[in-house]
Amino acid sequence: MKVLVTGGAGYIGSVVATRLLEAGHEVTVIDDLSTGHRDAVPDDAQFVLDKVQQVSSTLGRRAFDGVVHLAASSLVAESITDPQKYETNNVAGTRHLLEALRTTGISRIVFSSSAAVYGEPSWVPIEEDAPTVPLNPYGASKLAVDQMLDEEASRHGIAAVSLRYFNVAGSYASLGERHDPETHLIPLTLRAALDGRPVDIFGGDYPTPDGTCIRDYIHVADIADAHLLALGAASPGTWRVYNLGNGEGFSVRQVIAAARRVTGLQLTERVTARRAGDPAVLVASSERARRDLDWAPRRPELDEMVDDAWNFVQRRQR
Ligand code: UDP
Repeated sequence: MKVLVTGGAGYIGSVVATRLLEAGHEVTVIDDLSTGHRDAVPDDAQFVLDKVQQVSSTLGRRAFDGVVHLAASSLVAESITDPQKYETNNVAGTRHLLEALRTTGISRIVFSSSAAVYGEPSWVPIEEDAPTVPLNPYGASKLAVDQMLDEEASRHGIAAVSLRYFNVAGSYASLGERHDPETHLIPLTLRAALDGRPVDIFGGDYPTPDGTCIRDYIHVADIADAHLLALGAASPGTWRVYNLGNGEGFSVRQVIAAARRVTGLQLTERVTARRAGDPAVLVASSERARRDLDWAPRRPELDEMVDDAWNFVQRRQR
C-alpha cells in the first residue's frame, strides 16, 4: 500500500512509519515539525514539511491507498490553558484532512485516539463501549475526531479505525521519546536517574495499593503494529474503535522500581501534589483488538519497555 503518515516525525508516528516500511509499504510522512524531529523520519520515507491543514496539495500529487493520522497537539496541561489550539490543530485539522480525502478518493484512515476520551472510568479494565467523559480539551478533541470518523464512515463510506492508546512506552530502532517539554513518567524518571535528582510522584494518596496512580503501559512497537493490522482490516462504511493496552496496570512507584532495576542507579522519589485531572487507575481491555485484528502485544514486560527507553536515552547521551 501507499500510505500517508501524518505526524510521522513524532515518537509514535516515526515508529509507525518504520514498521510500515519494514512490512513493504510505501510511506510518505507529512509533519510540520512543530514537535516532531526531521531525523526521526525514516530515510526510506518521502517527507513533506507541512501542516495537516495544508494536506490537500500533498494528496493531490500522489495516489495513496490509506492514511494513518497521528498529527496532533498532545499536551493535556496545555489543552487546559489553550483549548483553542486543540480545536484548531486536532479537530479542525482533521476535518480538513477528511474533506481532502473525500476529494481525492482516499477511503481508508487509521486515527490515533486516546484513553483520555474515557476520563475517570467507573470500572476497569476499560472496554470500548465504556462512557466517554473526557476530563480535558485534549481528550475532548480526540473524542470529537472519533465521532467525526463515525459519521464520515456512515455518510461517505470510508473505512475508519480509531486506536485508543493507553500509556505508550519504550523505543524502537533508535526512535524514542523526545518531547519538549517532557511530561511522561518513564522519560522523566530516567532523566532524574541520570541527573541524580529525585523523581516527583504526583500524588501519594490515591485509592490504590501503594497510593500512586496505576497505568497500563504498552510498547511503542506493539502500538505501531496495531496500525498496520488496522489498515488492513478497515472496512468500507464502518468506523471501528479499539483500546490498545496490555491489560495490566503498574503504579508510579512500580515504574520507578523498574527504572532502578534497569539502570542500576540510585533513584530517590519525592511525593508532590496530585496533577489535576489524573484518574487513579487506567487499564485497558484490548480483547476487541485481539479478536478482530489478531493483535497481540509482543513486548508486554514493563522492564523491557523501560530498558528500551533507557537504551534510547543512553544512545542520545553519547
Ligand atoms: N507522573 C508522576 N510524575 C511525573 C510524571 C507523571 O507521578 O513526573 C504520573 C502521572 O500523574 C500519571 C502517571 O505518572 O499518574 C503517568 O503519567 P504520564 O504523563 O506518563 O501519562 P498519562 O497517564 O498522563 O497519559
